[in-house]
Amino acid sequence: MAAPQIIEADVTWTGHRFEPSIQVVTSNGLVERLGALGLVPTKKLSGKALLPGMVNVHSHAFQRGLRGSGDLFSDGSGNFWSWREAMYKLASELDAEKFAHLCRQAFSEMLTAGITTVGEFHYLHHSGSEENYAMDAAIVRAAQDVGIRLVLLSAFYNTGGVNKPLSENQQQFKTDSVEAYWDQWDELCSHLDENTQTLGVAAHSVRAASLADISQLHRDACRRKLPFHMHVEEQRKEVEEFRADFGRTPMSMLTQELDVSANFTAVHCTHTSAEDMEQFLAAGGNVCICPLTEANLGDGIPATPDIVAAGGRVCIGTDSNSRISFSEELRWLEYVQRLHQEKRGVLVGETGNVARNLFEMATVNGARSLNVQSGEISPGFNADFVTLDLTAPELRGADPDTLLEAFIFGCGNSVIADRCVAGRWL
Ligand SMILES: [Zn+2]
Repeated sequence: MAAPQIIEADVTWTGHRFEPSIQVVTSNGLVERLGALGLVPTKKLSGKALLPGMVNVHSHAFQRGLRGSGDLFSDGSGNFWSWREAMYKLASELDAEKFAHLCRQAFSEMLTAGITTVGEFHYLHHSGSEENYAMDAAIVRAAQDVGIRLVLLSAFYNTGGVNKPLSENQQQFKTDSVEAYWDQWDELCSHLDENTQTLGVAAHSVRAASLADISQLHRDACRRKLPFHMHVEEQRKEVEEFRADFGRTPMSMLTQELDVSANFTAVHCTHTSAEDMEQFLAAGGNVCICPLTEANLGDGIPATPDIVAAGGRVCIGTDSNSRISFSEELRWLEYVQRLHQEKRGVLVGETGNVARNLFEMATVNGARSLNVQSGEISPGFNADFVTLDLTAPELRGADPDTLLEAFIFGCGNSVIADRCVAGRWL
């Protein structure tokens, strides 16, 4: 466990603004107190700004292995489904060691990007054709090796499409039954580092699980007070196929059949209707948007402004990890809407402030979705921080009132100077 510290940077993000002369006292991996306490710092961060580490709600770390090759189009063009074939091929080539290597690569890059918590939506359970769950322990270990905080959203997967059996190349994702899922879930608990790792629940999508199994998993997750995540309506084809079989959309099925509440995060919602979204948000659900992946895969443009205007809690994921940069995710969340609406300042918060609203999605909202005490520098919260290098050329000219805007709209990962997880500087 990290030793107690008194940390002082030039300025510290206190939730609404950057403030000077703030000392943050940490012990046992948590923030104990903060303020202008007049204490002598044990860790002085000169020329730096201290911020809460960012929370990446949705990742498939191994898909980092498609970077480069995933953007070659030998057939002239591609789509989500052709990309999925390439992803299946990658998965089939991985053993636990190669898989762990890709995970470490992705998790390291996340830390570089100022991400200190990752929600890993983990569905590649087995290496080879056996049901061996070799990848489960491997990914837990990979996160420990790198030092990032992990919420492992272990994913249930046992159909190969709406009402279809698993195909040959989906066998590595297989979970036999809800009972088998929980047996493995409970087994995994013994592998976790208690200070930096927790487990959550995921049903992959309506393509990969039946309504009965999704309902059972969600009831179990609620009873155990766990976060529940699911891909929802990323592709038009998924919505149309489901409607053809069941006469309603996946999202309307979820809101009608499940007791949706704040522990439910729907990932993507690219093609969710306004009416369905209203129901989902009214029930308290979170929406995770993955701007760079949705752009890379050509998914479409989600109705983020409507979600924000309705008070919905949007959080952010790097998903396919084709590029890992949270400042870039955040500005593209806003930019795609500016392009679409031909105006500036779309995802504004109550104070007319875009950057603060975006940063809240990347921190507070993400932590809420994953049920971790992170995303804020507040007493009792995890001592998970990053710093910005105030001497970086990209930040020259920014003052405390414009620093967050300068970071989100003008910077890549290189301005992130330090990372700290559970009080341990990496
Ligand atoms: Zn995903």
